[in-house]
Amino acid sequence: MENKKKFYIDGKWQDPHSKKEIKVINPATEENSAVITLGNKDDVDHAVSSAKKAYETWAHSLKEERIKLLEKLYENYKKRWADIAKAITLEMGAPKDFATKLQAGTGAAHIKSFIRHLKNFEFEKPLGDHAPNQRLIYEPKGVCALITPWNWPMNQVCLKVMPALASGCTMVLKPSELAPLSSMILAELIDETKFPPGVFNLINGDGFITGEALTRHPDINMISFTGSTRAGALISQNAASDFKRVSLELGGKGANIIFEDADPNAIEWGALRCFKNSGQSCNAPTRMLIEKSNYNQAVEKLKKFTEEMQVGDPNKEGEHIGPVVSETQYNKIQSLIQNGIDEGAKLIAGGLGKPSGLEKGYFVKPTVFVDVDNKMEIARTEIFGPVLSVIPFETEDEAIKIANDTPYGLTNYIQTKDQEKARRVAKKLRSGMVDVNGAGIAIDTPFGGFKHSGIGREAGEHGLQEFLEVKSVGGWS
Ligand code: NAD
Repeated sequence: MENKKKFYIDGKWQDPHSKKEIKVINPATEENSAVITLGNKDDVDHAVSSAKKAYETWAHSLKEERIKLLEKLYENYKKRWADIAKAITLEMGAPKDFATKLQAGTGAAHIKSFIRHLKNFEFEKPLGDHAPNQRLIYEPKGVCALITPWNWPMNQVCLKVMPALASGCTMVLKPSELAPLSSMILAELIDETKFPPGVFNLINGDGFITGEALTRHPDINMISFTGSTRAGALISQNAASDFKRVSLELGGKGANIIFEDADPNAIEWGALRCFKNSGQSCNAPTRMLIEKSNYNQAVEKLKKFTEEMQVGDPNKEGEHIGPVVSETQYNKIQSLIQNGIDEGAKLIAGGLGKPSGLEKGYFVKPTVFVDVDNKMEIARTEIFGPVLSVIPFETEDEAIKIANDTPYGLTNYIQTKDQEKARRVAKKLRSGMVDVNGAGIAIDTPFGGFKHSGIGREAGEHGLQEFLEVKSVGGWS
């Protein structure tokens, strides 16, 4: 078991004040893989004061200096790519190929993308030709608390750390206590890259003590949080008393509207998109809305596809899915599957218990409920497991109504060959992102949600601007 008890503060790996420890569990084996420290208020004070001190100079660093350091970081990241992927597999169970290409891959892609956007970003410019003496100056927001979850650990960390570094902010990162190992490698890379001490600090810990102390700290100017809607609301309350800037990326319950004229593979694509990462993606299309004229045939396809879906050892290569992250998550999913059965939804594949031959580890059977009513718990709650709820619809308006009837608004999906219809429906969906026919998103697409799915946008130029405050100066000549 690896000893990962130290924190990275002020450019050094340091012994924490707290003596409270927690084991990092490998979800595929239920064995301990590492031990970390859960930081207390003194650790938070230490890390924040280091970031505050560093802000005095880093905020005024030249853009060229930051570009150079980020380029070096990108080179260093590529050298440790395989280690990062391995750590992600160990800490949250993403299968080897998926962890390498997508989990570690998106981290690298974000570093590259933010370098590009930093190069192009004008930190000072006139308001416009009509007001040339009105100067707009974009300044870093200050000392940031970056709090991330376990489901896409490196993607989420890079979506925050890279724009914070690029903008001239300093930061304290608190990764998920369930998946801290990949972030600790990133801290090693930042150290190796020789960012000035205190610009980036990492402490480990839980939400209850460490996250709470961080988000209440008076010297934190901005909180960038990705995680549950529950924690997002608590964090907003902590931020309100001293008007900390807040950026929140929260949960989702995406609808995938499959019209009769959709590509014949749309059903299987939608199920796969829901099950990938063992269903642990905020933007997963977990409610499949199928046009009634095509319903019975689609249900048959779904049953066959889901029964053939492979679940297995994440250390093996291939396209299978791995376990879910923890025992708590496993139990939550089981109780929601039970809930679906009790509420009268029709189970056509998967269900309770573990897939055969996988009794050890937090493996869940890919599961499909059909004839689901959008009022049922399985259609309303973010299950965060490989569980799909299928809902029939008759008209375009009804599909839009069902899709929008949720507290969330992160990503919705449309499947149709009729581009006119796709555009019409996309405009009526209340979500931050809409995907038509599985087009996917560019790495710098503004990522974020409406309603309970959060506030603000990550990635690309929008993600960079989240870390900047605009100042206007009149009479500039
Ligand atoms: P979580 O909210 O339990 O934890 C996320 C992080 O917040 C962890 O680091 C945790 O320690 C910390 N935390 C928890 N309570 C806190 C509090 N009161 N104060 C401060 N910090 C606190 O979420 P999770 O279970 O780790 O992640 C899954 C959730 O994340 C899902 O709801 C998912 O949809 C969401 N998510 C959203 C996006 C997005 O971009 N919208 C992306 C990925 C995941």
